[in-house]
Amino acid sequence: MSRILIVEDERKIARTLELELTHEGYEVDTAGDGRTGLEKALQEDVDLVLLDLMLPELSGIEVCRRLRRESDKPVIMLTAKDDVSDKVMGLDIGADDYMTKPFAIEELLARIRVALKKRQGREEKQSAVLQAGKLVLDPQSYTVTFDGENVALTKKEFDLLQYLMAHKGQVLSRDNLLENVWEYEFAGDSNTVDVYISYLRHKIDQPYNITTIQTVRAVGYKFIYG
Ligand code: CA
Repeated sequence: MSRILIVEDERKIARTLELELTHEGYEVDTAGDGRTGLEKALQEDVDLVLLDLMLPELSGIEVCRRLRRESDKPVIMLTAKDDVSDKVMGLDIGADDYMTKPFAIEELLARIRVALKKRQGREEKQSAVLQAGKLVLDPQSYTVTFDGENVALTKKEFDLLQYLMAHKGQVLSRDNLLENVWEYEFAGDSNTVDVYISYLRHKIDQPYNITTIQTVRAVGYKFIYG
């Protein structure tokens, strides 16, 4: 069962949403200000956040921004304002969707289902075992083996290899890799990617005498092994 957090300072709206969502079979928690909302949104058992934009203590934008530093759980922004710049801002800082009040509850429910499904799909994809030739990466146990032999990688090396293997045969630009492997924690320079690619080559390609990652000149990298 999915748990939804409603962050909304207008009690009547919060109460209506709570009733509707409970009726749909969701577990529901509520917060009446941005600070409490952020605290609760960061809790593991919250699967999706309905986030009002105009909130006391911390604005919805700020809550979303801070939440995104630690989590990619779905956020649907709610606002009374039909303001395009707020909308763009909300999506820019990582909200998944946006609804302008007043909205039809059926539409909100539909968007909640879409957002939860997307997240589930992403999680399943992230936990799938990846294999390329003798190289096997298992996200559940966080291990990489080559021909059954354990390859010790740091967390970032692991994440990078996972992303490369999941996109085997595709040319991936440095920006793409930075964005998807380093995500929110790092607004960095693309040298970082080159450094980590060289770590992987040092730990996999050299000892096992194979070529896993091809450099695509002026563009980026491509996983080609297996
Ligand atoms: Ca409000």
